[in-house]
Amino acid sequence: MSTPPVQTLAIIGIGLIGSSLARAAREKGAAEHICLTDASADVRQRARELELGEICETVTDCIREADLVIVATPVGAMGDIAGEFAGALSPSAIVSDVGSVKQAVVDAMLPHLPNPARFVPGHPIAGTERSGPDAGFASLFDGRWCILCEPDGVERTDEEALAKLTAFWEVLGSTVEVMGVKEHDRILAITSHLPHLIAFNIVGTAADLETVTEGDVVKYSAGGFRDFTRIAASDPVMWRDVFLNNKDAVLEMLGRFNEDLSALQRAIRWGEGDALKAFFERARGIRQSIVDAGQDTDEDDFGRGR
Ligand code: NAP
Repeated sequence: MSTPPVQTLAIIGIGLIGSSLARAAREKGAAEHICLTDASADVRQRARELELGEICETVTDCIREADLVIVATPVGAMGDIAGEFAGALSPSAIVSDVGSVKQAVVDAMLPHLPNPARFVPGHPIAGTERSGPDAGFASLFDGRWCILCEPDGVERTDEEALAKLTAFWEVLGSTVEVMGVKEHDRILAITSHLPHLIAFNIVGTAADLETVTEGDVVKYSAGGFRDFTRIAASDPVMWRDVFLNNKDAVLEMLGRFNEDLSALQRAIRWGEGDALKAFFERARGIRQSIVDAGQDTDEDDFGRGR
């Protein structure tokens, strides 16, 4: 096996993503040594039982020897965590994260870091609706994109840091794309954040219906509703933080969405069948291009099965 790109990997936050990182890094040989920590003593205990790596009691103990630190907590906690570990970082350590929003994470973490050029924010476009250390699995990042960002306000991201982090994610099976933080937040607002908001909302609307019983909603859920419930089962803390921290981009996409929804509403009201059919055909074409791009399969459970 070739030399791992990382000597000591520190992972803060041992949930779905943090535990998947540990499993994948070990299984694929991306790091020589793995240290992990989590705010919850129960989670740390479970991570020990799962043998995810060396489990540390504190954030500073976890990062002290690390050449790569990845923060994998909800985004709202990341600023305080950076403040906690900044003083104990090795000068050559690379700091990254996996947060679903990027500008807010950069704003929160960057001011604490001693070497801003070695801060390379990241976001693996991979996940499930599950959370916690038992939910992770080593193949989560296989064939998925991982976005790495060069933050504004940093004169220049250290090229060696970017290359090393890219190599790390490639060993995990991902393809890396580098983009600006604002671009990231706009793209993810429409591809991830808005779909989750719609799912949370439709499940809430169905639950509030007075003329349809809850039993009916569950019984006939295969009509489409069930697929929204899978997305809406995602971690509430993570998603609260995503919406609070990507407010502008989400509100912009929501405005566009509402306009398009009104157009559909009008087409239904006026019996404009051709307009509806054209709209649905376009959507079907987009679905097919996602399958063609290898970002999903044609299976009727969306190929995730979990
Ligand atoms: P998760 O399963 O809920 O795990 C998060 C873990 O972080 C929990 O064990 C939590 O402990 C711990 N934590 C919270 N605050 C902490 C702190 N101050 N210090 C140390 N640990 C702390 O969440 P996840 O799905 O792995 O998400 C983690 C990050 O990945 C988020 O930023 C999310 O935006 C991003 N992400 C998620 C997905 C996805 O599909 N889930 C995909 C891509 C990126 P407690 O349970 O005790 O709070």
